[in-house]
Amino acid sequence: MPENNDLDAAHDYREQLQARNYRPVNVSPEILINLTNHLKTVFPGQFNEEKSPWELLSDFLIEKDIEEITLAEAAELVLTEIKDKEHPLYRMAKDSKFTKYDSLFSSDLLEYIENIKVACKDLNISVRDGVSIGFNNEEALKAEQQPVWLTESSVINISESLYIILNRVSKLLAKSISFERLSEDSGVISLNIEKHKKKILNDIELQKEWELFFTDCAYDTDNPLLGNVVVVSDEFSQACYSDIMESMTYFILGHEFGHHALEHSLGGTSEKSVDESLNMEFDADLFACKISAHIAKSDTKDNYFLQSNLGAFFALNILNLIRYSYQIVKNGKVSDSETPSDSHPHIKDRIEKIYQFIETSENHSNKKFATIALHNTMFDLLEFIWGNTRNNLLRMHIAGCAPKDRSKKNWLPGV
Ligand SMILES: [Zn+2]
Repeated sequence: MPENNDLDAAHDYREQLQARNYRPVNVSPEILINLTNHLKTVFPGQFNEEKSPWELLSDFLIEKDIEEITLAEAAELVLTEIKDKEHPLYRMAKDSKFTKYDSLFSSDLLEYIENIKVACKDLNISVRDGVSIGFNNEEALKAEQQPVWLTESSVINISESLYIILNRVSKLLAKSISFERLSEDSGVISLNIEKHKKKILNDIELQKEWELFFTDCAYDTDNPLLGNVVVVSDEFSQACYSDIMESMTYFILGHEFGHHALEHSLGGTSEKSVDESLNMEFDADLFACKISAHIAKSDTKDNYFLQSNLGAFFALNILNLIRYSYQIVKNGKVSDSETPSDSHPHIKDRIEKIYQFIETSENHSNKKFATIALHNTMFDLLEFIWGNTRNNLLRMHIAGCAPKDRSKKNWLPGV
C-alpha cells in the first residue's frame, strides 16, 4: 500500500517519466537461469537456501510454456495467474512501490532509500512525504530528483546506464586496489602507492579492461557499451567490489535525496541565480556524505569505503574522467574549463568541499588524518590509471576515431 497520497502521486509521475524512454526488457527462462548462475558466482552464499526471484520467475514461465515475454507483461501475468497472495512472485509484482516499468533490480534501490530514511530519522532530518525511486531508460549517465507539484514528495530517477557504469568501475577498482591483509577476510587499503601500481602492472588483463572501460565511455558518454563482464575472482575482492558499489550508490542517491529533503527544487529552477544553484549542489553533496558516514557507523558490515566517504570521491572523479575521455577522443586533448557550468560546480570544487567535510565532521574526528591520507592515495591511484589509459584514447584520436555524435546535447555528468 502507498504510504500516503503525495507519495502515490510521485509514484504515478515517475511511471509517466519512465514511459517516455521505456524499452521493453525481454526475458526468457534461459536468460533468467543465466542471470541466476551469474549472481551465484558473483555473490556466493547469498542464494543457498531460497530460490532467487529470477529462478522463481523462470519456473513460472516454464510452467506456462512461455519462451519470451517482457518484464512488464510477466508482472501482469503473475498477478492474474498466481492466486496465493503470499507467493514471493505475487508479492513482488503487487508491491505498490514498483511501477509497471520497473525492473527486478529496482528492489536494490528501495533498500538504499529505506536506509537513507532511517539515517535521516536518526539525524532529525525531515524526509517530508518521501520519494518514489526507480531506474529509467533515458540515454544519459545521470541521476535526478524532481519535485511532484503541490505535494511534499519527489521522484528520484537513476539511469540504468549510470548504474551499469558504477557496477563495472567498482569491479575494476576492486581489482586495482592493493590491501594490507590483517587476516584472511579483513584488510586495510595500502597507503603505499607503489603497491597499487605493482598490482596493476602485474595484471595485463586488468590494464586492458581499464582501457576498454574508458574507450566505451568515450565513444558514447550517454549510453556506453556494456563491454565484457569483468570477473572479480577471489572472495576478498568481491567483498571490496560490493562495498565500493554500495558507497558510490549511497553518495549518488544520497545527493538526490538531499535535494528532496533540503527542498531545493521548490520555487522552480528558473528563479534561482547561478550561485544559488551551485550552492545547492554543494549542499546535496555534503548531505550525501553526512548520510553515508552515518549509515556506515550504524552498519554492521563495516564498509570501509562508505566510512571514509570514498564513494563520493570515486563517483565524482570517475564521471569527470569519463568526460575527459570523451574530450580526448574528440579533440585530442582535455578542454577542461575551470569555471562551473550554470547548474553544476566544477568537480574539483565539489571534491574540495568533501575534503572540508572530512576535516570538520565529527564522523571523522578521530581518524581525520588517516582518511585524508587514504583519499590522497586513491587520488594517486586514479592518476596512475588515467595516465596509462589516456595514451590509448589519444592513439584513437590520432587514428581518426570519433565519439558517437551527441552534438545536440552539452554533456555533463548529471548528478
Ligand atoms: Zn544535484
